[in-house]
Amino acid sequence: MAEHKADRGYFSSALGCRCPRCREGKLFRNPVTIRFKKNMQMNRECPVCGQPTEIEVGFYYGTSYVSYAVSVALSVSTLVAWWVIIGLSVDDNRFFYWLTFNAVFLIALQPWLMRVSRSLWISWFVSYDPDWETNHPVDVSERMNPDQANNW
Ligand SMILES: [Zn+2]
Repeated sequence: MAEHKADRGYFSSALGCRCPRCREGKLFRNPVTIRFKKNMQMNRECPVCGQPTEIEVGFYYGTSYVSYAVSVALSVSTLVAWWVIIGLSVDDNRFFYWLTFNAVFLIALQPWLMRVSRSLWISWFVSYDPDWETNHPVDVSERMNPDQANNW
């Protein structure tokens, strides 16, 4: 049984919205788009290793906290970058220019951010399995209620 070495590390897999179990299959059906529904459509299970992408009812309910935390982290990064590159002063409006820039930046990033939040979320519950080719994913059918899937 040869150990399968993933091409991707944890972060490139999570940020690239890949299945956390095999780090190969894509979690989402379509490329990033500003059309909300199309953007958020997920593969029911990983097309490569069969890992279900929704492992219990309402699984992704907590992702708004993730996207909030990532937004805050990004804002801190752009503020620091702005401070280093452009500078900040109480004597002019540079801080408010940053505020505007940051708001536009975060809005432009929303489609990606919402997907990455889900990708990060599932990566905290499903761990990487180097032997995903021979092992089976954990059976989650008892935790799922098909009537309530995608219905929250
Ligand atoms: Zn997979």
